[in-house]
Amino acid sequence: MNIILLGAPFSGKGTLARKIVQDFGLVQISTGDLFRENIKNGTDVGLLAKTYIDKGQLVPDSVTVEMLSKRIAQKDCKKGVILDGFPRTIAQAEALSKIAKIDAVIELDVPFDEIRRRALGRRTCTGCGEIYNTATYDKTTCEKCGSPLFQRDDDNLETVNSRLEVYTKQTAPLIDFYAEQLFVVKGQDSPDATYKPVKDFLKGRI
Ligand code: ADP
Ligand code: ZN
Repeated sequence: MNIILLGAPFSGKGTLARKIVQDFGLVQISTGDLFRENIKNGTDVGLLAKTYIDKGQLVPDSVTVEMLSKRIAQKDCKKGVILDGFPRTIAQAEALSKIAKIDAVIELDVPFDEIRRRALGRRTCTGCGEIYNTATYDKTTCEKCGSPLFQRDDDNLETVNSRLEVYTKQTAPLIDFYAEQLFVVKGQDSPDATYKPVKDFLKGRI
């Protein structure tokens, strides 16, 4: 089973994806994480991607599609993938249709007011990738693995606003593109409350 997670930045895609991975044994592919890995390792893709990410813009489709194709071709992805942050444009969705069969598309729907509220409080674990928010978690180390938490470079007000604008213009059209396969879930409540209908939906599909 291959699943796409659609949703604005801070809608909770990463958190939801991790829950689905645990219960359904799929492999999570986050293009944002892949770019950050490339940046950390100083690759050509990373150097190029950073110039876009720092401005809150999308990395060009050709670069993103090539990186995703390579990842999805790896052996572990045979058991099924959950795509978190890809596709983000119609061109990416068209390219994806030639690479993989998609079984379900889940849209996380969160009001922009709530998104702005979450934006500046997000913290990520340097060890295991767990995601926290300062509004609900006030420690500086991870509850699961003890590693320090950090705030992503692109989680600042200026970048967040341009990311929301980019989402509205370039990614939201995918909601129509996938209309026939779409399962919409309200994502403004707790991670567990958000996951419940998704879990039921996916159980009905395997
Ligand atoms: P978020 O969903 O919180 O915006 P991500 O970690 O998914 O964060 O992405 C961070 C940045 O990486 C994006 O703002 C964008 O610049 C780049 N990026 C990630 N996925 C894609 C994609 N599919 N196409 C183009 N750029 C992408
Ligand atoms: Zn951790």
